[in-house]
Amino acid sequence: MIYLDHAATTPLAPDVLAAMLPFMEHDHGNPSSVHRAGRVAREGVERAREQVAAALDVPPLDVLFTSGGTEADNQALKGIAWAARAAGRGAHIVTTAIEHHAVLDSVAWLRAAQGFDVTVVPVGADGVVDPQRLLDSVTDDTVLVSVMAANNEVGTIQPLDVIGPALAARGVCLHTDAVQAFGRAPLLLDEWQVGALSLSAHKFNGPKGVGVLALRRTVPATPVLHGGGQERGVRSGTLNTPGIVGCGAAAELTARGAAAEAARLRTLRDTLSDGLCAIDGVELNGSSTARLPHNVHVAVQGCDGDALMTALDTVGVCASTGSACQSGAAAPSHVLAAIGAAPDCAHVRLTCGRTTTADDVDRAVALIAEAVKRLRDAGGGYV
Ligand SMILES: *Cc1c(COP(=O)(O)O)cnc(C)c1O
Repeated sequence: MIYLDHAATTPLAPDVLAAMLPFMEHDHGNPSSVHRAGRVAREGVERAREQVAAALDVPPLDVLFTSGGTEADNQALKGIAWAARAAGRGAHIVTTAIEHHAVLDSVAWLRAAQGFDVTVVPVGADGVVDPQRLLDSVTDDTVLVSVMAANNEVGTIQPLDVIGPALAARGVCLHTDAVQAFGRAPLLLDEWQVGALSLSAHKFNGPKGVGVLALRRTVPATPVLHGGGQERGVRSGTLNTPGIVGCGAAAELTARGAAAEAARLRTLRDTLSDGLCAIDGVELNGSSTARLPHNVHVAVQGCDGDALMTALDTVGVCASTGSACQSGAAAPSHVLAAIGAAPDCAHVRLTCGRTTTADDVDRAVALIAEAVKRLRDAGGGYV
């Protein structure tokens, strides 16, 4: 099997598992307990908080643990919007058309059920938002702008270096979903004046079911979950100690070799991308420059998406059509619709990671070329 779907999830790194095991085997205390068992768990959690904080270059107090990227996005959008409106600061939210569903659907709910005013800014055919167009949609009523650091489908990196400081100058909070960007592209929270940022551990070789909301203490947020008051009162619930410890270990591992790993991934990506684009009727989707180092996304003419995916699975290549959550669904991906991708081609996402080798990408190119040829010879697999 050749696993080229690291944007969907990544394997748990062995060192991360090793860090988690003691907290699954014997250190079972509740980190909120004051006794010895609680203290051991507390130390594990606080060490993880420091590891994540160091990786993001923020104070540890800004790091809140959640159940994943989805919860971090929900808490950021709902929490910041509610607090701002309650303070009488306004009720307008700006986001982009290519956000993850955790952002887009939260914003849609804030509009439909909570009476917020929402502007969804389109992106160019290259999958990058025009910063001026986004900034032009900000009004005196705007309390929150959410722009992902990098897109999970077509891998485009968004211009937060321009957007962030311009929003800060107007006193508007920026949230960014950095789930895909973390460890793969620079995240300069101070320079970009990011108010809130979401991460998900399973996208950087950590465990599933744990994430991070880095929330500046200057940004008020109403909790979504009420209860025991953990995590600065923003995220109640007994902490997932093994998961959090794994998240911290994975953040440290990712940050440690990030530049070298990005360079290695870029070489693999280019081999994959050049090899596939050499096939007749195959073209790269998204931007060739503002692009994550691990992401290849191609349009394959003359093939049906689901048929090609099945053909690739049969020969042991794990890829994805658009976003994993949408695969097999009748509705086309909102990201592909936003960039105006051709509706009658297969759109394939291949994403490399820590475990991907040069041999993997060479074999994948050959297997995909053969599968495309076979499928086209058989009429493309259209239903
Ligand atoms: C995977 C992903 C999420 C959701 O994270 P989970 O931890 O799986 O809930 C959110 N945003 C982006 C960009 C993602 O890729």
